Order: sequence, then C-alpha cells, then structure tokens
Amino acid sequence: MLMPEPDAAVLARRPQLVDALKRLIDPAGVIADPIALRAYENDGLTAYRQPPMIAVLPRDTAEVAAILRFCHQERIKVVPRGSGTSLSGGALPLADGILLGLGKFNRILEIDYDNRCAVVQPGVPNLAISHAVAERGFYYAPDPSSQIACSIGGNVAENSGGVHCLKYGLTTNNLLGLEIVLMTGEVLRIGGKHLDANGYDLMGILTGSEGLLGVVTEVTVRLLRKPETARALLAGFSSSEAAGQCVADVIAAGIIPAGMEMMDRPATHAVEDFVHAGYPMEAEALLIVELDGPEVEVDHLLSQVCAIAETNGATSQRASASEQERLLLWAGRKAAFPAIGRISPDYYCMDGTIPRSKLPQVLARMDELSRRYGLRVANVFHAGDGNLHPLIMYDANKPGELEAAESFGADILCLCVEVGGVLTGEHGVGVEKRDLMPRMFSDVDLDQQMRLKCAFDDKQLLNPGKVFPVLRRCAELGAMHIHRGQLPRPDLPHF
Ligand SMILES: Cc1cc2nc3c(=O)[nH]c(=O)nc-3n(C[C@H](O)[C@H](O)[C@H](O)COP(=O)(O)OP(=O)(O)OC[C@H]3O[C@@H](n4cnc5c(N)ncnc54)[C@H](O)[C@@H]3O)c2cc1C
Repeated sequence: MLMPEPDAAVLARRPQLVDALKRLIDPAGVIADPIALRAYENDGLTAYRQPPMIAVLPRDTAEVAAILRFCHQERIKVVPRGSGTSLSGGALPLADGILLGLGKFNRILEIDYDNRCAVVQPGVPNLAISHAVAERGFYYAPDPSSQIACSIGGNVAENSGGVHCLKYGLTTNNLLGLEIVLMTGEVLRIGGKHLDANGYDLMGILTGSEGLLGVVTEVTVRLLRKPETARALLAGFSSSEAAGQCVADVIAAGIIPAGMEMMDRPATHAVEDFVHAGYPMEAEALLIVELDGPEVEVDHLLSQVCAIAETNGATSQRASASEQERLLLWAGRKAAFPAIGRISPDYYCMDGTIPRSKLPQVLARMDELSRRYGLRVANVFHAGDGNLHPLIMYDANKPGELEAAESFGADILCLCVEVGGVLTGEHGVGVEKRDLMPRMFSDVDLDQQMRLKCAFDDKQLLNPGKVFPVLRRCAELGAMHIHRGQLPRPDLPHF
C-alpha cells in the first residue's frame, strides 16, 4: 500500500509539535508515547498498519478548531478517527500526521421529540441513539452491523448503511444538521432541526466525504417512530438465480421491505454452525425479507412475499411468529462476519454494488476467480439495493496469501464496475479502493472531485492518501489545464 512519503522535516519537529499541542489543549489529550500510539495503528482493515506521529483527543469543538488551525499553519497532516471500525482503511494513520480521535465527543446533547430529532456528538455509538429514545418508542434507522461500536461521526463520513436502509435510507437520508470544523479552524454549521436547508446541498457533499473535507463535531439526526410490528421471512432457494428473481419480483410488486438480505451457501453454513438460527443447510441461496408497519399490513404483505417466493421455487419458507424468532433469524445474518472469522484465520470483506439482475453472473465469475486464486469466498448481499459483501478467506501467515486476497478483491470490484455497478456500497473508498478509482471515473471526473476537495482543504492536509489515486496540488488543478490526464508539471510530487 503506497502512502504519501513521510516528510522528514516534520518528523524532526515532533518534540516541538507535542509541546505546542499540549499548550493548545488539555495535555492529557495529547498522546506521544510510541506504545500508546500503537492503539491507533489500524482500523477495521487490519491488513494495513501505521502508528501516527502523535494522537490528539480533543474534548470540544474549540479544541478541534485550535488543533486544525495550528496544523494548517504548520502544514501538518491530520487523520480524523471515530471508533476505528472502517473496513476501507479510512482512519489509517500517517507516519508524519496527527491522528484526531473523536472518542471523547460521546454525549447526546439533546433529544427533541417534538421535532423528531436528536443532537449528538460525533463519538456517540450509532446504537446508543436508539437505546436513548427506545422507551418513548423511537429509534435511529440506519443500522450498520457494527452499530454497537461505530460512531455517528464515522457513519456521516462513510455514509454508512445497514440491513434496514432499503426502506429507511442511508445515513445521508437521516441527517438534518451538521457542525463541521474546516482545516483552517473555521466552524461551519449546516442545516439544523428543520427539514430542508437553503443554498447548495453542502450536507450532501460532506456526507460520505471520508474525513477529507472537514471534521464533524456535531450531528442532528432524524428520529423515527418504531413500527408497530415487524416480521421476517426466511426462504431457501436451489440457486442464486431463483433467489435473485424473487428479489426482483418483490420490488416489481411495489413492496418495499424493511430489509431484504441474501446469503450464499458458504455464508449460510458458516453462520448456522456459529449461531444455530435454524437456517436450511441444503439451500444454495437464502433470503431474509423483513416487513414492518401496522400488523394488518405486515400480515398482508408477508403473504404476498410468500406467494412470490413460492412462484420462484423456494425450497423452504419460515416466517417469524414472535419477536424472539424474528431476532434469531436476523442474528445469523448480523453475525456473518464473525462467523467467517471462526473458519478462516483472516478474511477480507469487500463492498461493491451491482445491478440486482447481474447477481448470478457475478457469483459465477466469483466462483471462477475463487478457483484461480485458490481462496474461498462467502457472500452476504444487501439484495434489495444490490450491495455485495464478498468475504475472501486467507491466511496472512502464509506467504503471498494477503497479496492474492488483495488481487482477488480488486478483480471482484472491477467486475462490479464492468457489469454496470460501482466500486463501493457503504464502506467507502479509503485506501482499499483508492487505486481502482480510475476504473470508475475519468480523469475529468477525478479532477472535478479534487477541485471540490481543494475548496475545503487547499493545502491537502486532511486525510491525504485516501480516496484519490494521486495527490495533486490544488494550485496545479486550479491554475493549469490538464489535457487527457497529462500533467503539465510532472516534476511536482505525486504518489
Ligand atoms: C464487523 C463490522 C461490520 C460492519 N458493518 C457495516 C455495515 O453493515 N454497514 C456499513 O456501512 N459499514 C459497516 N462497517 C464499516 C464501519 O463500521 C463503518 O464505515 C462506520 O461508519 C465507521 O465508523 P467509525 O466511527 O468506526 O469510523 P472510523 O473507522 O474511525 O473512520 C471512518 C472514516 O471516517 C472518518 N471520520 C471518522 N470520524 C469522523 C469525524 N468526526 N469527522 C470527519 N471524519 C470522520 C475517518 O477519517 C475515516 O475516513 C462494518 C465494520 C465492521 C468492523
């Protein structure tokens, strides 16, 4: 993994930078001890590790602003970090950069039931919001499988999704307001408790910007009323084509399930051995379809989905008859990643999106690739929105297996683009998919995106080395015409 070359002059100033930071914020929030810094050396993409030069743990927006203003003046790179669960290496530190940990921002500031929203700090774990409002019958809808740990700030930065985002939308659809600190230390407030914002859709730009445009210091999220009831249907199929057709037919019938997930046979077996949810082991593909809303409506829609599954040759069907049974059906799917962790020393979780109809074709090609690379793969799939999560199993202790897993993963992502999909569904680009960006975007597209980055961060100090395959200087983009990707100043440093 190629990252920007550490700046020796910055590294030489480390002791002075530590002293200066200790004068700027509470000294207890400045971590310089090499052993303590190891705690931050990786995120959920554990294949890559790099301790930061210094870690800082600010307590409030004023401290974040002071740190960023200082780093801007001193030209020091900054990597924001929430809970460090990113699967694309977005929070991977830089050897000559400061890691800005938002873990101390962990308070729910306000719950406003009248306006159906909550104002929270970015370090609050996703699930904590739903827990805080559960007794009044409300919840926060986006539910990444990591929701017990991942922070709401990280969710905003990655535009995270979850199994229930098919009906209720991703993070971007559930935000009302943000407070952001720019690299210059300026504090920007966007949106609020109202439903629409004036001007350009800056919230849309910042959501999913992977910590490259600003640091999120406050988030106003929508709260939804918990549905009156929810029921899940488990259906087994003898082929992924049949399961895929069932998904297409459910959507075509005008039904929007709360969640519609698919697992292939390897994933089903790994999960069943772990969770014992009663999944049919003979099925080649498994669907879990959840319907929620008023009881009468749910029962009606459930019978329609059962009939559609029947028409598509479902080999087994089981509808949850109690809340406990519904949760058990989901427990298997939600434990898919740890279940794979039990049967393989290491696994690499990919995240691409394809048109739903291409699933059988993509699975067949993945099988071929699996044989070619000699690595097993299991698939879990947000079937309703076409988001595929192949889990490539490898052993990092065997020479060459990590590299083979990386190449296998890259081939899968290229395949997603080839069939009309995109490189990422919800885990972001980070370092993982950075070098594949030209497969998806033209030079003109990438230059336009870089110009946007430059408008927020003119010195390219915020999370550099992520998302964009080359580190271009803003001046270069602003002042020079780049024809067909040919840079007029090739002597400028790129990586
Ligand atoms: C077991 C497991 C299951 C997962 N399941 C899902 C899933 O179902 N759906 C899904 O979408 N993701 C999933 N993820 C990925 C991950 O949990 C999400 O991307 C999550 O949003 C990351 O949040 P975090 O707080 O851990 O952020 P981090 O990992 O700390 O950071 C992620 C990115 O956000 C930036 N960032 C973090 N905080 C801020 C901030 N306050 N301001 C600006 N930038 C910031 C970082 O620089 C980095 O680029 C899963 C991960 C694991 C390990």
